[in-house]
Amino acid sequence: MGPEPRYRGLMSNQPVELLNFVGGAWTRPDGAPRLDIVDPATTVQLATVPLTPPEAVGQAVEAAHAAFPDWRATPVVERVQHLYRLKALMERDLDELARTITHENGKTLAESIGELQRGIENVEVACGMPTLIQGWNNEDIARGIDEHLFRQPLGVVTAITPFNFPGMIPFWFLPYAVATGNCFVLKPSERVPMTMQHLIRLCDEAGFPKGVISLVNGGRETVEALLDHPLVRAVSFVGSTPVAKAVYTRATANGKRAQCQGGAKNPAIVLPDADMDMSTRILADSLFGCAGQRCLATSVVITVGDAKAPFTERITHDASTRRVGHGLDEGVQMGPVISATSKQRIERLLDTGVSEGAELLVDGRGKTVGGYENGYFIHPTVVDNAHPHGTLATTEIFGPVLTMLHADSLDQAIALANDRAFGNQACLFTSSGAAARAFRNQVDAGNVGINLGVAAPMAFFPFSGWNESFFGDLHAQGRHGVEFYTNTKVVIERWPSAWTRRF
Ligand code: NAD
Repeated sequence: MGPEPRYRGLMSNQPVELLNFVGGAWTRPDGAPRLDIVDPATTVQLATVPLTPPEAVGQAVEAAHAAFPDWRATPVVERVQHLYRLKALMERDLDELARTITHENGKTLAESIGELQRGIENVEVACGMPTLIQGWNNEDIARGIDEHLFRQPLGVVTAITPFNFPGMIPFWFLPYAVATGNCFVLKPSERVPMTMQHLIRLCDEAGFPKGVISLVNGGRETVEALLDHPLVRAVSFVGSTPVAKAVYTRATANGKRAQCQGGAKNPAIVLPDADMDMSTRILADSLFGCAGQRCLATSVVITVGDAKAPFTERITHDASTRRVGHGLDEGVQMGPVISATSKQRIERLLDTGVSEGAELLVDGRGKTVGGYENGYFIHPTVVDNAHPHGTLATTEIFGPVLTMLHADSLDQAIALANDRAFGNQACLFTSSGAAARAFRNQVDAGNVGINLGVAAPMAFFPFSGWNESFFGDLHAQGRHGVEFYTNTKVVIERWPSAWTRRF
C-alpha cells in the first residue's frame, strides 16, 4: 500500500459518488450499477461512477431534444458568450482540474496541464463561430434570382471519449457542437469520469441553458443506448480501433452521421543527418510521455544507415534513466499505466515479442516504485530485432515500449513506415529539406511531423487520422467540426416585384 494520497476526490475525504447531468440537474440514474475509480499510482479508491442503463440514457436524450428549439433559435453571437465564460472558468480551475486528471489517469501534472490547455484552445476556436458558421451566396444566378447556403444545426449529438485525455478529447467536440446550435450529450470514459464531472459543473456555471449540455456516465450498454436512440443525430467517437469500427457501423446503420477515431501504431524515421541529441529528446517524450498512452505516441522508430548506433545508445540511456512515479511528485517524468489489466496486457505482449525473437535492450517489467508498490507501473522499455510483421511492430501496445527497426535508405524506411494498418501519425527526423519533402509527400498517415514527435494539430486544424485510425470523413476540431455538426441548406429565391426595379 502506497502513502495516503493528498486528494481523494472532488470535495471530500471519502470516495465521491459521481452523478449524471441531465436537463440541467445532477441525477443518480435509477438502478445503475457502480464502478470504482482508483488512482493508478496508489490504487486508492477515489470515486464510484454509475453505469447508466438505457432508460436513463433516453431521459437525457429527450431532455436535450426539448432544449433544442430554443437553443437553435438563440443567435450564434449569444451562444458563444457561454463559451467565453467557460474558457475563463477553465482557466480559473486549471490547477484543480489538472490534479484530478493526474489522480484518475496517472499522467504527470505538466501533461495534465498541457491537455487542458488544448481543451481551452478548442473553446477559443469555437468562440469564432459567428464567422465559422457563415454560408455562401450568389446574387443573380439567373436574372432576379439569388442563391444562398446556410448552415443549420442537427439537433441532439453525442460524443463518446477514451481514458487517455479526460480533459481534452471531450473538447474536440463539445464547443463546436453547442456553438453551432446543437444540444450535446457526453459519455466520457468510465475509467476517468471525475474530470468531466468538474468540467460539466463549469459548463453549468457558464450559464448554458438546461439540456444544452448533458453528461451520462457508463460503458458499452450506455453507448449502445445512445447509438440506437432515434433522436440522436450524430455520433463522435474516440477510442480503440475495434470499438471505433463497431460504433461507426452501428451509428451509420441507424442513419446517424458519425466520425470515429481509432487506435494507432505510429512510426518515426531517424536519418543519419538528424540532430541526434534533439531527436532523441523529442522522441523519448513521444515514446514515454503519458506512459505511451497517447494516440500520437511514437511506438516504432526506424533508423536509417548510420543513425542506428548513435540513436540506440542515446535512447537506451534515456529509457533507463527516466524518472517514473506518481504524476504529482516533483521531478517525475512518467506515471503509471491506467490499470492492472493494461499492465498485464503490455507485459504479455512483451513476452510474445520475446518468444518471436525480439531482444529487450531495456526491460521495464517487474520494477516497483518506492512508496507506490501497488501502482500499475511499467518502466520505459526498448526492443530491438523485432520482426517488422511481428507482434511488437504491428500491435498497438499503448504503453511505454519502443520497437526499433532499421533500414538502408529513406525509401526503404518509408516503405516500412507505410507497412501497417493504422495511419494516425508519422514523423521524420532529418536536416534535409529534400528528404522531408519526399517523406511528407509519400507517407501514408494523416498527421505528419518533421523533427516533431507528437504532431497534434492545433484546434483550428482537423485531427487527421487515416486508414484504421479513422472511420468517417469529417475529422474533429476546427472547420471540420463546424461541417460535421451542421446541415447545409441551399435556398434559391425570386422576388417578382424586385425584378422590374431599374437603377
Ligand atoms: P476504448 O475503445 O476501450 O473506449 C473508448 C470509449 O468507448 C469509452 O468511452 C468506452 O466506454 C467505450 N466503449 C468501450 N467498449 C465499447 C463497446 N464494446 N461498445 C461501445 N462502446 C465501448 O478506448 P480506451 O482504452 O478508453 O482509449 C484508448 C484507445 O483510444 C487507444 O486505442 C488509442 O489509440 C485511442 N485513441 C485514439 C485517438 C485518436 O485521435 N485517434 C485519441 C485518443 C485515444
